[in-house]
Amino acid sequence: MSTMDPDDYAMELGPMGPIGEGAALMLRVNRNCPWNQCLFCPVYKASHFSARSVEEVKRDIEAARRVGDLLESTSWDMGLNGYVQHEVIEASLKKYPELYGKYPSAVTEKQWSALRCLSNVANWYIHGTRRVFLQDANALFMKPGELIEVLGYLKKTFPSVDTITCYARARTCARRTPEELTELHDAGLSWCFVGIESGCDEVLEFMKKGVTRQEHISGGRKLLAAGIEMAAFVMPGLGGRNPDVSGRHTRDTIDLLNEIQPTEVRVRSLAVLESAPLYGKCEAREFFHPGEDQMVEELGEMIEGIDFDCAFETLQMTNAFSFRGRLPGQKRAFLDALDSYRALPPMKRAQYLLNRYLRGGYLEFVQGWGKLDPPLQEKVEEAESSIAEEAPDALKKVETALFTLKSKGIP
Ligand code: SF4
Repeated sequence: MSTMDPDDYAMELGPMGPIGEGAALMLRVNRNCPWNQCLFCPVYKASHFSARSVEEVKRDIEAARRVGDLLESTSWDMGLNGYVQHEVIEASLKKYPELYGKYPSAVTEKQWSALRCLSNVANWYIHGTRRVFLQDANALFMKPGELIEVLGYLKKTFPSVDTITCYARARTCARRTPEELTELHDAGLSWCFVGIESGCDEVLEFMKKGVTRQEHISGGRKLLAAGIEMAAFVMPGLGGRNPDVSGRHTRDTIDLLNEIQPTEVRVRSLAVLESAPLYGKCEAREFFHPGEDQMVEELGEMIEGIDFDCAFETLQMTNAFSFRGRLPGQKRAFLDALDSYRALPPMKRAQYLLNRYLRGGYLEFVQGWGKLDPPLQEKVEEAESSIAEEAPDALKKVETALFTLKSKGIP
């Protein structure tokens, strides 16, 4: 009788995928970030970039296929016609102790890897096996010929896949030829998520983004010309508190977006994480973090200034408002919401912000990560009492609490 080896049912997984990819299979095509220098980004700072071979990635695709087959077979046994639901996962855990151990009490390291793969693949099956996200920070860094081979193998193994997305650095996009990008698109690459952050060279340089405004334009246009959809991430607040620099950051970012005209604009307002190099710059007073009101202003200017048709969203929890829709169609509605906030007296704005971040889930996440430490707790309490007492510095206290809260992580 053949034994099942957990290694055959495990895939290597990176740390994250972007918002909106909850239905996707995570498939790691390289490890970490080949640039890894942006001051505001802590994600891969403790790790080194390394490439993965086509053979390694193909092995992971085969592991996903095996896990998918196993789930479908359990589903058929249960009379569920191959559909994967939560009870199918539970039953599979019990049915294959050689793969998953006696979950959760007695599980070997190899079995934990198989369990992570099961979670990745089962979630994907529940959502219909259509989307795949290529990890990590710059999947396009893989040689185009190799990536095309991976995409072909993926689609052959899973013909249901219709959307393949990844993060990509603009500099890498700019260095690819139009022909290479067209071939990648034809092989199945549908979307690239590009961290633009700013259209201002001065800000890009200070933040060590490793890309110029011109490379952003070149990379973005090449993607779109090849038929690959582009989501551009921009970051209100990245110019800091100085009004001249932040003004240039906002205006140049708007101009850049209007020049590239990406398919979608996603906003993630600056959060200075204590694990990111920018935190040290704040402590050394080399960078001054803007307040929430300033970031709301910048967001409003961006919404006002974007003059092409695009999807637009501000769903990341570091934003003071959650918008999702299209520009210019919903421009007025978004601006009206911001105007209502701006018209509030400082005490009401402080209340809004406190509610938004403390009661909107952010604090629970931070608590869940074990990072609700005494200094943060103290600042939150001070902010709450300053509002209860209607203290004149309530807004300032709230801002301080939110800066500390956001420094713990981004949900
Ligand atoms: S390129 Fe992206 S992942 Fe890499 S350091 Fe910069 S922000 Fe972080």
